[in-house]
Amino acid sequence: MEYRQLGKSGLKVSEIALGSWLTYGKTVEDTTAEDCIRLAYEKGINFFDTANVYEQGQAEKVLGKVLKEYDRDKVVVATKVYFPMGDCPNDRGLSRKHIIEQCDRSLQRLGMDYVDLYQCHRFDSSVPLEETIMALEDLIKQGKVLYTGVSEWSAAQIEKAQGIIERKDYHKMISNQPVYNLLQRYIEKEVLPVSESHGMGQIVFSPLAQGVLTGKYKPNADIPKDSRAANKEIGRFVDRYMDNETLEAVQKLDSIADQLDLSLVQLSLAWILRQPGVSSAIIGASKPSQIEENVQASGIKLSQDVLDEIDKVLEEI
Ligand code: NDP
Repeated sequence: MEYRQLGKSGLKVSEIALGSWLTYGKTVEDTTAEDCIRLAYEKGINFFDTANVYEQGQAEKVLGKVLKEYDRDKVVVATKVYFPMGDCPNDRGLSRKHIIEQCDRSLQRLGMDYVDLYQCHRFDSSVPLEETIMALEDLIKQGKVLYTGVSEWSAAQIEKAQGIIERKDYHKMISNQPVYNLLQRYIEKEVLPVSESHGMGQIVFSPLAQGVLTGKYKPNADIPKDSRAANKEIGRFVDRYMDNETLEAVQKLDSIADQLDLSLVQLSLAWILRQPGVSSAIIGASKPSQIEENVQASGIKLSQDVLDEIDKVLEEI
């Protein structure tokens, strides 16, 4: 496993991180989830992402239980705040009240004294940005949070927040967590350059397009039973990638990988990691064997010819 600095911060994270959305505390048995987290650690993954809202805290509990087996200083733990945790008006968003209360709840569930990275899961236009930023700075000063970041914020929102932080001489936010994969590249235009100008690294989610970039879903074919797309409760999240045109392009990308003696998973993750602005790709895994396969992408470099060939396939979608 290779490691990168998270943005311009001093924090070093594995190129492949392990996340827990839709998996741990939900569709994956706890014992399997625990095996996945242990294997990830053994394979050199030091970076674990979760959120308060993932199964209303269950994902944090599963992760915290296993990570207790390791020295706290060996792992980098990221969680998030924003999405509703209850029905009351203050049970959501980025108000000072919700941020401070939810940070304590996340720490309790994780069984930790601090999180390494605390992220605003989305932008909250109903709260003054200064209020959010001051609450995050207070958590840093209290030692409950070491670094802060955001998720799916636009370039303009990042610019505005970092401007306030600079003027107040607060700790700069070090990361953004957007979706980024061969089939979703919107961040390249603005988010990446603006983030880089503020020293922020991207820690990207759904790097395998929720499993589509493993090649397991074929055009005009049945959906494999044991897959996210086949799951009645969560299959809808994969729908955006499941049209025949996209699946045919994925088959072509699989052929490119084949010619290079790589798996499509390796090609897809190496393609993401070609971006110097990306610090880590957060994979999900429903089985330990997926972690075994996915970590092998770390360190693979793709030539410019291969990148051009990939672009040609993507332009056709
Ligand atoms: P991926 O694109 O890596 O998809 C993960 C799923 O793909 C797995 O659960 C598994 O599903 C399948 N898969 C992965 N590897 C393999 C393999 N080698 N062979 C076959 N199937 C495989 O990422 P996710 O969409 O799960 O997102 C990853 C993490 O990113 C989340 O856990 C979360 O931490 C974060 N995230 C953050 C968001 C945000 O708003 N900030 C939003 C979404 C995610 P299966 O076996 O069930 O088919």
